[in-house]
Amino acid sequence: MEYGILKNYIDGEWVVSQSSERLDVENPATAEVIAQVPLSTVEEATRAIAVAQEAFWEWRETPPSARARAMFRLKALMEEHFEDLARTIVQEHGKILDEARGEVRRAIENVELATGIPSLMMGYNAEDIATGIDEKCVLQPVGVFACVAPFNFPTMVPWWFLPTAVACGNTYIIKPSEVCPISQNRLFELLDEADFPPGVVGLLNGDKRVVDVLLRHPDVAGISFVGSTPVGKYIYATAAAHGKRAQCQSGAKNCLVVMPDAALERTVAAILSSAFGTAGQRCLAGSLVLAVGDVYEPLKAQLVEAASHIRLGDGLDEATQMGPVISHQAQTRILGYIKKGLAEGAELLLDGRGAHVAERPHGYFVGPTIFDGVRPEMTIAQEEIFGPVLGIIHVSDFEEALEVIAGIPYGNAASLFTASGKWAREFTYRAHCGNIGINIGIAAPVATFPFAGMKNSFFGDLHGQGLDGIQFFTDRKVVIERWF
Ligand code: NAD
Repeated sequence: MEYGILKNYIDGEWVVSQSSERLDVENPATAEVIAQVPLSTVEEATRAIAVAQEAFWEWRETPPSARARAMFRLKALMEEHFEDLARTIVQEHGKILDEARGEVRRAIENVELATGIPSLMMGYNAEDIATGIDEKCVLQPVGVFACVAPFNFPTMVPWWFLPTAVACGNTYIIKPSEVCPISQNRLFELLDEADFPPGVVGLLNGDKRVVDVLLRHPDVAGISFVGSTPVGKYIYATAAAHGKRAQCQSGAKNCLVVMPDAALERTVAAILSSAFGTAGQRCLAGSLVLAVGDVYEPLKAQLVEAASHIRLGDGLDEATQMGPVISHQAQTRILGYIKKGLAEGAELLLDGRGAHVAERPHGYFVGPTIFDGVRPEMTIAQEEIFGPVLGIIHVSDFEEALEVIAGIPYGNAASLFTASGKWAREFTYRAHCGNIGINIGIAAPVATFPFAGMKNSFFGDLHGQGLDGIQFFTDRKVVIERWF
């Protein structure tokens, strides 16, 4: 067990959980147990909140410039440990090294954004709203915030929130995914080294039991959740019922529309990386190709040909192009969807079942899978599979493609491949999804932009990242002044 029994980080100390319940953390490429994660107790969650609340008073009075300097120290440490962090992600998650490096880079970009807090947190003012009376708006930190994180971006997702929240003067607790908790452990070692005051940041391992404490405790001001839609709905409703802010980024089913005038070679490459990157376990992954008119036959042929050459393996091997899926349970779920697609009448053009990697015989692999003849009402066109399964729907025109998108209950992302500015504009205007790609397969917003989402992909008012993040993590106070 390379990483041993993971600890919590509370009040600036590494603490062994008193819980007798622990889960094994596996490397999905080998099925070896590489760590154990404690399912922390209600008392431990309550203590984490108490110390965060206690630390808030002093941290909120620390000048933004000093908070920014802490972020600069953190950034330097993350750069120094960049490769080590990426390798940890590969071991706990299974994605390939380059994808893990991209994930660490995105996390660092959020720290970089937070270094700008002295100007990002400035308010505004107006003189003479009435004669001799001035008005100003100031942004103030709120208190204790927490993140409930998914398995698929174990480093990056919680760091869409922590740097901004903490730079704004709040204190922050991360509840990592119990399936992928190791890289947060590594990151908290860096937070410890960066010397944040005790209680400003906390790491609380566990499951629903501790999430429920975070959702109900009066001292928690808000929750950032990223994960599946049913849990997102529950978190949103429970947080709201307890008077908290909530931003709940949830599941997805993303369409990639290909017009007949698209640059085919580049489009095929973009679709492959969108559908099969991170073994399809991204909320921005394209899982349905809507092939418009005549592009259908050549696109289908090229996709199948290219996907059949994707090299499966252990993500730590630089030659690997696609790693395993996260767990045996996930593998079983994905294979179940493939069976369902066949039962509903779709045609399997490329079958990823039975994928085998000789050097990693116990890994949870599913090969790239492509269905043709998918109809919009099929289960595989409506539900999130979260694996390397791509369905092709042949549509007659642009309008029909938009109708298919409108009929999907999710609204996380949609992409259009075209050479036409007119269609690109029309798509941006009308597709009811939060993140739009034009000739881009994965429309992932950088730290300075909000990570958007609509329909069943997002519950809340303010998204994570960018100026939305600053607003979520601050109170606006309006002051009207007259001096005699
Ligand atoms: P998940 O919903 O199973 O778990 C997410 C978190 O919720 C975990 O920390 C887990 O401990 C906690 N949790 C699970 N059940 C709970 C319950 N009943 N009550 C309280 N907390 C609970 O999600 P996952 O499988 O880890 O992640 C994959 C999902 O995340 C996919 O649906 C994917 O689309 C989504 N995702 C969305 C985005 C986005 O920005 N929209 C980004 C990444 C992942």
